[in-house]
Amino acid sequence: MLTIVTNSAEETKEIGYRLGRILQGGDIVCLTGDLGAGKTTLTQALAKGLDVDDYVTSPTFTLINEYNGRYPVYHMDVYRLEDVDEMYDLGYEEYFYSDGVTIVEWANLIEEILPEERLNIQLKRGKEGNEREINIYGKGERYEEIIRNLKSVSSS
Ligand code: ADP
Ligand code: MG
Repeated sequence: MLTIVTNSAEETKEIGYRLGRILQGGDIVCLTGDLGAGKTTLTQALAKGLDVDDYVTSPTFTLINEYNGRYPVYHMDVYRLEDVDEMYDLGYEEYFYSDGVTIVEWANLIEEILPEERLNIQLKRGKEGNEREINIYGKGERYEEIIRNLKSVSSS
């Protein structure tokens, strides 16, 4: 597990950008944290690191937005999902098991259908207004590798 404390949106974006540079097609990034924790802010930086030129906004009403970067980038926000069954209607498997990178906000709400191997990022507000604690942990060889890579770029 990698824990990083940031003190501004810019610092969080810096982490997101570095992680975005490391991501590859097929990777799944699951974001959890309260409203305003920084999930969308982080996603925007991940997309930038994935060479997405478009401005990334939360797909609150559409559930999913697709972007073209180094890989296809699928950004889901399942906050308004009423039932996990809606994910089946959406054909979520096409995204999770694809050559694209899938980023899910509020991933905890669809835990039961998430692939076991994935990168989890939990964002928590700290004591100060702009402080955030970011916990990154991965399950599976690929995601452990991502964390090792992220640690080595973070310390250089
Ligand atoms: P979420 O998608 O989790 O609801 P957003 O990314 O939309 O959250 O909003 C986070 C808000 O908090 C943004 O307005 C951002 O500028 C602000 N913010 C302040 N400090 C930080 C920080 N350290 N990391 C991320 N966002 C921060
Ligand atoms: Mg959001």
